[in-house]
Amino acid sequence: MVLEKLGESLKGTLAKIARSLTVDEKLIDELVRDIQRALLQADVNVQLVFNLTKEIKRRTLEDKPPAGVSQREYIVKVVYDELVKFLGGEKTGIEVDKSKKPFKIMMVGLFGSGKSTSLSKIAKFYQKRGYKVAALGLDVHRPAAQEQVEQLCKRIELKCFIDKKEKDPLKIYKSFEKELSKYDLVIIDTAGRDALSADLIKEIEDLNSYIKPNENLLVISADIGQSAQKQAQQFHDSCHITGVVITKMDGTAKGGGALTACAVTGAPVKFIGVGEKVDDLEQFNPPGFVGRLLGMGDIEALLEKASEAMSAEEAEDMGRKLLKGEFNFLDLYEQMSALKKMGSLSKLVDMIPGFGNLKIPKEMLEGQEGKLEIWKNIMKSMTKEELEEPEIIDGARVERIAKGAGVSTGAVRELLKQYKMSRKMIKGMKGMESEQDIGKMMKKMKGKMPKGFGM
Ligand code: GDP
Ligand code: MG
Repeated sequence: MVLEKLGESLKGTLAKIARSLTVDEKLIDELVRDIQRALLQADVNVQLVFNLTKEIKRRTLEDKPPAGVSQREYIVKVVYDELVKFLGGEKTGIEVDKSKKPFKIMMVGLFGSGKSTSLSKIAKFYQKRGYKVAALGLDVHRPAAQEQVEQLCKRIELKCFIDKKEKDPLKIYKSFEKELSKYDLVIIDTAGRDALSADLIKEIEDLNSYIKPNENLLVISADIGQSAQKQAQQFHDSCHITGVVITKMDGTAKGGGALTACAVTGAPVKFIGVGEKVDDLEQFNPPGFVGRLLGMGDIEALLEKASEAMSAEEAEDMGRKLLKGEFNFLDLYEQMSALKKMGSLSKLVDMIPGFGNLKIPKEMLEGQEGKLEIWKNIMKSMTKEELEEPEIIDGARVERIAKGAGVSTGAVRELLKQYKMSRKMIKGMKGMESEQDIGKMMKKMKGKMPKGFGM
């Protein structure tokens, strides 16, 4: 997960606070130092870090917690609040207004930042939510750019408007303007340069003033770290950025620089790209993100993602079972196959409460995805009794099951081993003291802190 280290140390510090009997300035200093260290390690700008921690310290020492809320609980709330604010506030994603047909999103950014790729990801994101989406290719300078957009669109069956002969992007826009008005959402790909140049600014300005997009999304690659701030500011000054997409968050361990640098320009991060595939996009949601960092698990994000692959009821049920720590063989299979439908298992694990703490090796999770088919066959050869109570499966049963499924006894044993391991992990999760303490606190706070507390 992005900012993994940050999350780990924050969780540790908050757990310390949850356990301590009294809260004094010394403990708060310790907390502040831990947060500083973690953020700096995640490549966040020094000045930003100091501003943030100063505010955390001021509020925890000066504010009086509301009635019924202990000081320890209040500290968790302050850290949560300030981190959310720091990452861009409560607002999430882009609300596409169907009455503004077509709602227009223009992608801008330097060459290679991921504009075209993000265009297709965002298009799919809204297609899945029932919008009629089209793409418009206005990167007229690079010879292969138009074909690239065309190819990306073809993969998701997205209508794509391009004109390979015309070199004036505004003319292209005008020639398709009428047709574009039939769509709920039009996403516009523009040209990039190696650096922000006068030419590029002029071109974007011209497009911007004629097209008047509802959103101008700046696409920035996470690997540029803190210099994201300068780039965001420059683009913002020249063509009014309304939001930022940070790509390649999968590739860098230090996403903190780019992630926080942009928030200070006032243009919040709307999406993050976490891979090259069209589904590797996440809506950036600061409250959920911070919740995940602090180890409370982003149940909402999990459920949102889950609802795309299965019904809301099924998703809720799965979340509840995981949380309660109830688990049997059938659940293991159901969860694995449901998760598979949603995307990579290792990515989803970060969203499940407690799983982030378990340090499940990524390779192990990736390996499981391929085994699902074999498992399904093995399970089909089991009796209902065996499925519900795998403990009864002895050597003779293993042989019978293996024969029925046409696999080796080793494969059956491996599945049994996997079941036992998962069961142990789920049980372990249930007993994690600090996690539970913080979780309990957050729940308690929820009812008491209506303002700005978006859990
Ligand atoms: P553009 O020049 O701004 O249109 O950039 P492209 O969309 O062509 O992307 C440049 C390269 O970055 C391509 O190879 C993409 O596959 C890759 N890319 C884009 N977004 C991501 C991401 O989130 N993760 C990873 N790993 N690669 C990405
Ligand atoms: Mg491109």
